[in-house]
Amino acid sequence: MLKNAYLRRVYDQVLARDPNAPEFHQCIREFLESLEGIADKHPEWEQNAILERFVEPDRIITFRVTWVDDAGKVQVNRGYRVQYNSAIGPYKGGLRFHPSVNLSVMKFLGFEMNLKNGLTTLPIGGGKGGSDFDPHGKSENEIMRFCQAFITELYRHIGQFTDGPAGDIGVGSREIGYMFGQMKRITNQFDAATLTGKHLSYGGSLVRTEATGYGICYFTDEVLRHQLNTSFEGKTVIVSGSGNVATYAAEKAMQLGGRVVCMSDSNGYVHDPDGIKLDLIKDIKQNRRARIKVYADEVPGATYHEGCRSIWDVPCDVALPCATQNEVDVAEAKKIIDGGAIILTEGANMPCTLEAVAMLQAAGIPVSPAKAANAGGVSTSALEMTQNSMRLSWTFEEVDERLHNIMRGIYKAAYDASVEAGQPGNLVVGANIASFLKIADAMLHQGIV
Ligand code: NDP
Repeated sequence: MLKNAYLRRVYDQVLARDPNAPEFHQCIREFLESLEGIADKHPEWEQNAILERFVEPDRIITFRVTWVDDAGKVQVNRGYRVQYNSAIGPYKGGLRFHPSVNLSVMKFLGFEMNLKNGLTTLPIGGGKGGSDFDPHGKSENEIMRFCQAFITELYRHIGQFTDGPAGDIGVGSREIGYMFGQMKRITNQFDAATLTGKHLSYGGSLVRTEATGYGICYFTDEVLRHQLNTSFEGKTVIVSGSGNVATYAAEKAMQLGGRVVCMSDSNGYVHDPDGIKLDLIKDIKQNRRARIKVYADEVPGATYHEGCRSIWDVPCDVALPCATQNEVDVAEAKKIIDGGAIILTEGANMPCTLEAVAMLQAAGIPVSPAKAANAGGVSTSALEMTQNSMRLSWTFEEVDERLHNIMRGIYKAAYDASVEAGQPGNLVVGANIASFLKIADAMLHQGIV
């Protein structure tokens, strides 16, 4: 329960305005709780309604997406773009195509994106978008027709100085390509810096594919070294998910000396005590677009278990939930603690419930929040925009080094803010405060808008 009267009033207003938005309520509550220790020192926030403005998106766009399936039947989905806050730069944030997409999820993701982007040190505001379209089981042509229909509506609201979408769940470089092509066809402009996550052949950045996962491990490595005086070397690692984030988090964890023993998809998980063979996971998920179950059929000694949440039955030192929101609740947190984990880093956006985070922290396990730990993806998206604007391309090593430095900087900013808030090492609090203070300052300088 929030103790500060202003924070409580802002939260109550959010609940009253958006009564059916559990994901949105959850992230707002976590954020406001982080400000408890410092809100009294900032009367200018209430005077200028900074928090009321901060929790309310600048703009929400919803639209119908009409497309034709392979059987000739007309299909209708709903599209969204939440343009949350542009105090420090144009809106930036991914597009998610998944049946669970609704306004609550979009607003939660947009709000988190804004805080995340504020941490990156780069000039990007926050936004998020997507559709309740389910890409599973769709043909290549259906995916293309859907993407073309989606961007035909969205293109008029975006642009490199307004809003730059990127990928997220269900949206990879294939989908970005279809959207880019359609947008170019409509506008007759090769506006490379608007959509990021592009293929390398027409303006994509090296490292963008790996960036979120690599960044998660760079961040985890900072926490391991700075707070626990250890490293990935010899640690048992569990990575949930097997999409973009999970795959490259697993790759970097292995490069840093960890042994990844489990990965999952939305049906179940595989356990390979000898260490996951990542090339096979990539082949199964990226080339064959098959279920992770196939891994256990092809690797002697590996087992498949139905139900993705039970991945935490397996003990580990380093827990990297990289699949989706709220995949770790108290039951899973308890298993992670009982399994002897020393650290948990949120790879997916908000993969842990508030209760799970509290439980892990109470057990002395440092929790790195998604908005800090997975900011490597959007940071590299912004580096992609920079390269597009400069009309040149950096090498893999150059981008990777910038990414590594950004992740170090984010860790330092979050840690320092946690110290200033009187909760040293509480990176959940530190990340929220560090980002909010920066964005709030920009809002105050820009007057009543
Ligand atoms: P992908 O679509 O590439 O992969 C998602 C993975 O999660 C798949 O393995 C999928 O399994 C699994 N999954 C989806 N829904 C569930 C569920 N309900 N329960 C268990 N597993 C599930 O997405 P990304 O890897 O890009 O994104 C993962 C998370 O990271 C999301 O929260 C996203 O917002 C966040 N993120 C992504 C960034 C990026 O750069 N891609 C940047 C920052 C954050 P299946 O194959 O069965 O669908």
